[in-house]
Amino acid sequence: AQERYASLRELPAQSLCGTVVALHMNAGLMADLPSLPSSGAEGVGLFRTELQFLIRSQMPKRQELSALYARVIDAAGGKRVAFRTLDIGSDKVLPYMKAIEEPNPAMGWRAIRVGLDKPGILRMQLQALIRAANGGPLAVMFPFVTLHGEFRAARAELDKAIAREERLGNPLPSKLEVGAMLETPSLAYAPDAFFREVDFISVGGNDLKQFFYAADRENELVRRRYDMLNGSFLSFLQTIVARCDALGTALSFCGEDAGRPLEALVLAAIGFRSLSMRPASVGPVKHLLRQVDLGKAGAAVSEALAAGEQDIREFINAWLVDNHQ
Ligand code: PEP
Ligand code: MG
Repeated sequence: AQERYASLRELPAQSLCGTVVALHMNAGLMADLPSLPSSGAEGVGLFRTELQFLIRSQMPKRQELSALYARVIDAAGGKRVAFRTLDIGSDKVLPYMKAIEEPNPAMGWRAIRVGLDKPGILRMQLQALIRAANGGPLAVMFPFVTLHGEFRAARAELDKAIAREERLGNPLPSKLEVGAMLETPSLAYAPDAFFREVDFISVGGNDLKQFFYAADRENELVRRRYDMLNGSFLSFLQTIVARCDALGTALSFCGEDAGRPLEALVLAAIGFRSLSMRPASVGPVKHLLRQVDLGKAGAAVSEALAAGEQDIREFINAWLVDNHQ
């Protein structure tokens, strides 16, 4: 199936009205990197660093990590890689860390919460990333940020790590981008200062959806019950887009939904200009985006949402029948 999209590899996801959507891929292991050139993605929009920790039997050493990240950066061949710091918690338990019993691990002590409370691993990871960048550009994002203060504290750890490298005379990143993943509804209502301070926001739609709908993404009884293309959720996403537009914050979306062509079209229609997805999805999403007029799709979806339409899946399907080239 990838062959079908091979001819699109070097082409942008440019819609008929000229609007371009940047398509990136998600990755987590070295083995994912060869997909970067073949997928047609512009870069790695989400590198899930915890996968490397989860496949090991011991805590990796800083030097090993930095060598690994250097190989990832090298394999990306100059394309941007957004490294997400560890998203571990009670459900993603490191085999070599003491497991903690929590009644509700997805809402528990995970991701940046662990990173800030027990900063040893976070510090090591940040140092490994700075060293791996070796004087080149570096993009880091923190997972599961819920409050502005958490982002500030995480960013302060990064600033400290940079200052330390500087004291040691090591090369500093030529360009540093520090982002936050927006995965809890609360962050959408953080103060303006947060939106100005972050270099970018990446919406983690998998988690954001589960918390928006209060429906566990791991629970088969409820996980498919609420649609991403429901008007309420899309109105919420519109709020995030509007705040980012107003405050000049770079925004992308990196949940699994970004890799489904219809969902990707609607995300682009409500204003997302950067999406990150599994490598095999880049071709199909690009294929659809190149066949529609995003300006018209955007106007139609906004109008439908404003009119209270809830079933945007059905709406966009019907719109495509009428407007597909
Ligand atoms: C998300 O929550 O959408 C996300 C990209 O992160 P993960 O799936 O790793 O939780
Ligand atoms: Mg997540």
